[in-house]
Amino acid sequence: MESHSFSVRHRIDVGVLGATGMVGQQFVSLLANHPWFRPAWLAASERSEGRAYRDAASWRLAEDPPAQIAGQTVDACVPGRGPRLIFSALDATAAQEIEPAFARAGHIVITNARSFRMDPSVPLLIPEINGDHLALMSNQRKAHGWPGAIVTNPNCSTIALAMVLAPLRRFGLRAVNVTTLQAVSGAGYPGVPSMDIIGNVVPYIGGEEEKMQSETQKILGSLDGGTVTPHLVVISAHTTRVPVIDGHTLMASIKLDDAPSLDAVRDALSSWRGRPQELGLPSAPPAPVVCLEQPDRPQPRRDALRDGGMTISVGRIRPCPILGLKLAALGHNTIRGAAGAAVLNAELMVADGWVESDVQVIDRRTGEPVSR
Ligand code: NAP
Repeated sequence: MESHSFSVRHRIDVGVLGATGMVGQQFVSLLANHPWFRPAWLAASERSEGRAYRDAASWRLAEDPPAQIAGQTVDACVPGRGPRLIFSALDATAAQEIEPAFARAGHIVITNARSFRMDPSVPLLIPEINGDHLALMSNQRKAHGWPGAIVTNPNCSTIALAMVLAPLRRFGLRAVNVTTLQAVSGAGYPGVPSMDIIGNVVPYIGGEEEKMQSETQKILGSLDGGTVTPHLVVISAHTTRVPVIDGHTLMASIKLDDAPSLDAVRDALSSWRGRPQELGLPSAPPAPVVCLEQPDRPQPRRDALRDGGMTISVGRIRPCPILGLKLAALGHNTIRGAAGAAVLNAELMVADGWVESDVQVIDRRTGEPVSR
């Protein structure tokens, strides 16, 4: 990690709601040694309340829980007890009530849950694509009277799709037919029963196909006069669960108004950069999308953890006889598709002055401090 585009006087205390679940564990892992954030408060359900984190979490990551966090006591999700900046990995049903209660109490909640993604006053953020949508927070505060706020990241498959489509907008993005092959960790823990998934494919994930259509249109949409006008791209999604641990694969056919050469498509994808790269945010991968040349890539086991799991790997860029262009894409569902996405959202919010802090960010292009 290049550490010269920012300086930090004090790490910002943060809390994690749903810290014991699959995504919560990724938060703990990513935040333990984060240069800007210090995980000071962990919360989950009554089942976990009062227990040491190491006992409450069914830890499923390869490395052990960070030593400085393993002994922390898990609290209940009570507004006002944790720091101002809160990450949420709550189950959606719980998030529906708990997250607004935290925003009402003055917390800034950066969440993975689906509950408020399509609320017109809530940013649905991918920092490389639509950092300007953070301006919706002002409407949200006025509409609800909250001193805090809710900022969401998209569904795990939608993030990978939107990051592939964003650089292709310049060619006139019209329609997409996409089939996903989604990992079991996307269903949380314990998730899909082993009897259902070993040696099998399940061609249904409730609500997922609708999310891929509506969320992508909002993310790629433009902010006009305080509201987001959705992008008009039409998306038909088939979502499937497959016996893979981590990493969602997408097979997409794409219709563009122009007929760019395959080289032009490859170049548009691999040269694409956003504000996280310009600012050198700590969790920003060097390139958000990487194009692989090998004909049998990307593969979850080999490519999901590229650049700490924050990069979308693309391969098999080729002509489609029906829609014009087709490709395969892969993203790590609990990192770029969840906890890593939320941490990057928080980094952009700090850099852009949406969170009070002692972090000073220098714009790499200008060499000047970022004005807030
Ligand atoms: P999970 O493993 O089932 O974890 C759920 C967490 O929510 C646990 O910490 C659980 O605490 C807590 N919780 C549940 N009910 C609660 C309640 N009533 N009050 C307080 N806490 C409660 O789920 P996950 O896979 O980590 O997913 C978390 C969220 O991220 C979900 O909204 C999911 O849709 C979203 N998401 C997941 C992925 C992914 O790839 N897994 C990707 C993108 C978004 P206990 O341990 O104490 O029960």
